[in-house]
Amino acid sequence: MMQIAPSPRSLTDSFGRRITYLRLSVTDRCDLRCRYCMSEAMTFLPRAEVLTLEEMAAVADAFITRGVRKIRLTGGEPLIRRGAPDLARMIGRHLGSGLDELTLTTNGTQLEKQSEALFAAGIRRINVSLDSRDPDRFRHVTRWGDVEVVLDGIAAAKAAGLKVKINMVALKGLNEDEIEPMLRWCAAEGHDLTLIETMPLGAIEEDRTDRYLPLDAVRADLARRYTLTPIADRTGGPARYDRVEELGGRIGFITPLTQNFCEGCNRVRVTASGRLYLCLGHDDRVDLKAALRSGGPEAMAALLDDAMAIKPLRHAFRIDERDAAPAVARHMSVTGG
Ligand code: SAM
Ligand code: SF4
Repeated sequence: MMQIAPSPRSLTDSFGRRITYLRLSVTDRCDLRCRYCMSEAMTFLPRAEVLTLEEMAAVADAFITRGVRKIRLTGGEPLIRRGAPDLARMIGRHLGSGLDELTLTTNGTQLEKQSEALFAAGIRRINVSLDSRDPDRFRHVTRWGDVEVVLDGIAAAKAAGLKVKINMVALKGLNEDEIEPMLRWCAAEGHDLTLIETMPLGAIEEDRTDRYLPLDAVRADLARRYTLTPIADRTGGPARYDRVEELGGRIGFITPLTQNFCEGCNRVRVTASGRLYLCLGHDDRVDLKAALRSGGPEAMAALLDDAMAIKPLRHAFRIDERDAAPAVARHMSVTGG
């Protein structure tokens, strides 16, 4: 356990929201190309622009010092970066002394190899993206992924002691008929399930409007077949959860389109290139890497206050208009989902 002196100065934005949750993108690269997330011919950051793992740990330290209690490693695919478990270990040293939780969002392809190291680093809960359990469909959505690898990875994570939550982006005409089977499978396996509305982030080959499935309708449909009891605890994220009484599991809904959740926003995101974005749906940012490389940790820490002043109140996603430009040019994989 490493001690970081808690600062009396918490990070609070101009709307009075305290920032206690950081999503840190370990890399913008990925070994899959999910159709709703990336275009097939993505260009990635040149390596020189990517923070070293030590710089990422320094970024995490700066936020923990200013009151951030939860850090999620994400990407791109965080676990394809060499040394990702080392980064988890560096940040995990603060667990119990400033940091309450270190967690991870992954596509699961590397979990078979890395789950034990992640647990040893102090991670206890992970989110794994799984939009379909059908091999052909999974390959179609991810363009070349092998679902068996991911299912084996999930089993390895469970065996290593990690609590798994499944993330499923609800896609009209692609996996909507799999939502209920996925819910049943998750309940049987002891995983929670979170459904996500597709968001207009970055250009892709398809028009996201065609795949957009509003989750208020999905929830209403499920509520006709199951007793859904809302759970008050929001776990610090944007999802709203229900207990599914007949199955015993929990289902979460992330509804940026049908039900805005920005009012209670407690998070910010740092890209693999060290840009601190204040909102997924806006371009407001500060350059932590430039500050860190030119002026050291103090210069970076000073920028955090400037950043708080420019955090927007809310995103303004719309997906109901065909051929509309994405809300922002950045893909989710760049900002860190
Ligand atoms: N590669 C990891 C994964 O897939 O879990 C972590 C990064 S990924 C960008 C994080 C989450 O964002 C995943 O659950 C993914 O399904 C979701 N996602 C990506 N693009 C999205 C979009 N345009 N709208 C909604 N969710 C998206
Ligand atoms: Fe990769 Fe995750 Fe995006 Fe899929 S959702 S392409 S796994 S970053």
